Amino acid sequence: MLIDPKTAEKATVEKVLRLQWWTDKLVTFTTTRPPAYSFAAGQYARLGLRDERGLVWRAYSMVSSPAQEFLEFYGVLVPGGLFTTQLKALKEGDGILLEKQCFGFMTPDRFPDGEDLWMIATGTGVGPFISMLRDPFVWGKFRNLVLVHGVRHAEEFAYTEELESYARHEPFESQARLTVVRSVTREQQPATNPLLLHGRVTTLFESGALERATGLPIADAASRIMLCGNPEMIEDMRRLLHARNLRPVRRALPGHFVTENYW
Ligand code: NAP
Repeated sequence: MLIDPKTAEKATVEKVLRLQWWTDKLVTFTTTRPPAYSFAAGQYARLGLRDERGLVWRAYSMVSSPAQEFLEFYGVLVPGGLFTTQLKALKEGDGILLEKQCFGFMTPDRFPDGEDLWMIATGTGVGPFISMLRDPFVWGKFRNLVLVHGVRHAEEFAYTEELESYARHEPFESQARLTVVRSVTREQQPATNPLLLHGRVTTLFESGALERATGLPIADAASRIMLCGNPEMIEDMRRLLHARNLRPVRRALPGHFVTENYW
C-alpha cells in the first residue's frame, strides 16, 4: 500500500496476518504490530483502509493484550459502511493503516480501589474486555471479575472457548475468579444454564438478575463497572447506575464506572 508523506507522518502500513469469520458479519483480524506501538488493555487504535474516494479511518479496540507481538481486532460489518465494505474484501497479506498513537480512557487503572470488576458489553464491545482478561493487571487487582455479554442471537457469542477456559482456571497466578454471564435478546435460551440469560443487559441489571446469577451484589464499596458497546445501552446503564448512587470516574475524582461508546 503506497501512502503520501503526510499520512506516513501519522500512520504506519501494517500487514493483515489472519482473518477469522465467526458469522457472515463478525470478524476477528490480526495485523503486524510496530515495535514502538504501545497501549494499555481497553484502549483503541485508528485503522485506515482505502476506497475509491480516498482513505477511510475507524476506531477499533485492541483485543490482543499489550504483551502480544501482533495486534488483534474484532468487528461487525455495518450495512453500507464505508470502512467495513473495504474490511469485507480484505485478504491475508493486504496492507492496513495504523495511526501511530493509540486512544481511549476505558482502562482498569482508572479505579484506585474496588474488589469486583464488572465488564458489561454488548455486541463487539466485548473486544477490549478480552484484551483486559489476556493481561495480568485485572487478575492481580480484583477479587472477582464478571464479564456480562449481551447479543441479539446466540451465534454472535465470540471468544467463548477462551473465556470459558479463563473461568475454569485463571490464566495468571492470582486469587481472582472470572464469571461469564451471557445474554441473548432476540431468541429464547434453554433455561438449563444459570449464566445464560434472556434480555437486555440493562433489564437484567435493573431486575437484579445479574446479581442473582453471579451471587455478587453491585454496591458502591466493592463494585467497579466498565461499560462498552451500543451507545444507547451506555446511556441507559448510566441512568440506572446513577439511580443506585454509583458515579462515573472523573479525572481527579474516583468513582464507580467508566464507559466507551462503540460507535
Ligand atoms: P446491537 O444492535 O447494539 O445489539 C447488541 C445487543 O445490544 C443486543 O442484544 C441488543 O438488544 C442490545 N441493545 C441495544 N440497545 C440497547 C440498550 N439501549 N440497552 C441495552 N441493550 C441494548 O449491536 P450488534 O447486533 O452487534 O450490531 C448491529 C448493528 O449495529 C450492526 O450491523 C451495525 O449496523 C451497528 N454497529 C455499528 C458499529 C459501528 O462501528 N458503526 C459497531 C457495532 C455495531 P436488542 O436485540 O433488544 O436490540
